[in-house]
Amino acid sequence: MRERVTVAGVSKTYEGDAGPVRALDDVSFEVEDGEFVCIVGPSGCGKTTLFRIIGGLEGATNGDVLLSGEPVTGPSPDLGIVFQEYHLFPWRSVRGNVAFGLEQLGMAAGERRDRVDEMLELVGLGGSGDSYPSRLSGGMKQRVAIARALAVDPELLLMDEPFGSVDAQTRDMLHRELLDVWGETEKTVLFVTHDVEEAVKLADRIVVMTPGPGSVREVVDVELARPRSRTDEAFAAYQEQVLDLIRE
Ligand code: ADP
Ligand code: MG
Repeated sequence: MRERVTVAGVSKTYEGDAGPVRALDDVSFEVEDGEFVCIVGPSGCGKTTLFRIIGGLEGATNGDVLLSGEPVTGPSPDLGIVFQEYHLFPWRSVRGNVAFGLEQLGMAAGERRDRVDEMLELVGLGGSGDSYPSRLSGGMKQRVAIARALAVDPELLLMDEPFGSVDAQTRDMLHRELLDVWGETEKTVLFVTHDVEEAVKLADRIVVMTPGPGSVREVVDVELARPRSRTDEAFAAYQEQVLDLIRE
């Protein structure tokens, strides 16, 4: 089973110290089963807010989010969430981190061990299971976070600027790995980024947001074969198109 995401008229106003802050204004779009969709927009346009609402970590002021037709009312085990800042448990080893969600599900120890091994192989961390997060590079930490998110076999993978704090070379590698995992698992992926090049590299479709309060400026279909090369003329043309939409 995969997941279809419907965002229907979502608005969000925070009660800030200096009065209300409008973060999202009537956001609507749809993500099909198995699709890879990027949400791109300038810093402060409400991407993380939208991500948290879709993930059930926060309520909308108005509007609804549906997962395969069912309204989101709170965090769901059908979601794999990867945050910008890893959020690993420092007191747990790599294995312990990846096993976390499986323990919550009550999976038996033997089965859990196999599943953790499988996930570590998938993200190229087969040899690092006994390491602790403090010993890992940013790229490795983010691989652990991805393995942890995928371990419970979620139908939807939600990622908020997951590669924002790794170097360009590592990011390229993680992009390839993520696309491989996506190809193998056919999961629906919703990926938030402020980086237009990253969005064109990854997405089937790009939801371009306006500056805050964020709304949908346009949805761009990226009709480029994979693997994509940023030196390709058509790649550059998409990048220009999306940048122009953001600058408008
Ligand atoms: P992005 O992820 O696109 O950078 P955010 O969703 O983090 O944007 O923020 C959107 C707007 O909402 C910003 O103006 C931000 O200051 C505001 N905001 C975010 N979280 C809160 C909060 N908990 N309380 C008050 N304002 C917030
Ligand atoms: Mg953000």
